[in-house]
Amino acid sequence: MAIDFALGEEQRGFLDTVDRFIARHLPPAEVRRRDREHVPPYDLLPEMGEAGLLGLPVPEALGGLGRDWRDVALVQLALGRHAYMAASIFNRVIGFGAMSLLTYGSEAQRTALVPRLAQGRLLIALALTEPEAGTDAAAIRTRAERCEGGWRITGRKTWISDAGGADYMLVAVRTAPGSTGAEGVSVLLVPPTAPGIAMTRLAKVGNNAMPSWDIGFGGAVVPADALVGAEGRGFRHLMSTLHYSRASMAATVTGCAQAAVDLALAHARERRQFGRPIGSFQVLRHRLADMQMRVDQARLAVLHLAWAIATGAECRREAAQAKVIATECLQYVTDHGMQILASAGYAAESDMQRYWRDARLYSFGEGTNEIQRDIIAKELGL
Ligand SMILES: Cc1cc2nc3c(=O)[nH]c(=O)nc-3n(C[C@H](O)[C@H](O)[C@H](O)COP(=O)(O)OP(=O)(O)OC[C@H]3O[C@@H](n4cnc5c(N)ncnc54)[C@H](O)[C@@H]3O)c2cc1C
Repeated sequence: MAIDFALGEEQRGFLDTVDRFIARHLPPAEVRRRDREHVPPYDLLPEMGEAGLLGLPVPEALGGLGRDWRDVALVQLALGRHAYMAASIFNRVIGFGAMSLLTYGSEAQRTALVPRLAQGRLLIALALTEPEAGTDAAAIRTRAERCEGGWRITGRKTWISDAGGADYMLVAVRTAPGSTGAEGVSVLLVPPTAPGIAMTRLAKVGNNAMPSWDIGFGGAVVPADALVGAEGRGFRHLMSTLHYSRASMAATVTGCAQAAVDLALAHARERRQFGRPIGSFQVLRHRLADMQMRVDQARLAVLHLAWAIATGAECRREAAQAKVIATECLQYVTDHGMQILASAGYAAESDMQRYWRDARLYSFGEGTNEIQRDIIAKELGL
């Protein structure tokens, strides 16, 4: 679906900026190298900041451009299509870091940290998941007790993306002794380098440029002003920004899905068998038609959500829907993309195998699709 007709002058300008950034810093060979060598794009954050990309939804008073979420979605669709790893780190900085602080951070935290996020000089990871608290995130047991000098943290978090490269983690901890579920949880801003923290990098199937970490907290102490938001209301705070991170992820994976279709189309035009391009066989023509339709549907869901966020509408269902539609679209098109490229897609240097590996994460990362469907059903009154 071409959406050029819907773009204004400024939006075209943002997309030109993305094109220049990608051409300069993340051409295809560099994306492949970083994936192969497991090198995250943290070093490119200042360039993304300088180009104005990271400041898009940040208010002008805090050094950003003060644009609404429709512009963020367009930029993420473009980043996801050309350099998925850049879109992924953009999500961490904007969809999670900046929007969390802007939504429930104190004035002092917003003023000190958000401008640095917009400049690409700060990275904040989210540490919620624990070995025994995945889908049931409210079952977390990591606790923080008041002590001289602030809070003492004990427990363990796992599968925390980009924690090793982050300046801070927003860590969900239980601060009300004896509390259970969503009550009594708070959010603390914790530097991963604090004494008492042990980090182990996890080996995994894909998303090589987004390292994942297991983190042990053995009595790490952070100052009292590390508390973000109200004490005991941390779980609600985290839930209140989920639509931003789901919107970011949905746009990113939809961009990547379009890249997978582009690659499959190019291959179907060029590869000849039985004396004709394989794209002339009806089975592949229809498969490619289905793939492009799925991507266009995902893009509509992403833009629908972006529109809702931009206008301040309630969007719990739209966020869950966009997340499910986009992540299942990416799995669908990469699976069929592999089939169309066959051995050429299975080769280590093929972008298709990377898209296919990376795609597998997203139907359970950022809230499993089973839970998204529960949310949608609940919003439908069931
Ligand atoms: C690469 C990677 C990056 C990640 N990054 C982060 C991060 O940065 N920060 C962070 O905090 N976490 C992160 N996570 C954790 C991620 O959010 C969890 O993996 C996810 O929440 C699912 O938890 P789980 O893996 O423990 O699965 P489980 O909770 O064990 O679920 C297993 C299966 O059971 C299903 N299930 C569970 N409960 C229900 C139910 N009530 N109804 C129906 N089905 C159910 C699930 O949908 C799933 O299919 C990351 C994970 C990965 C793999």
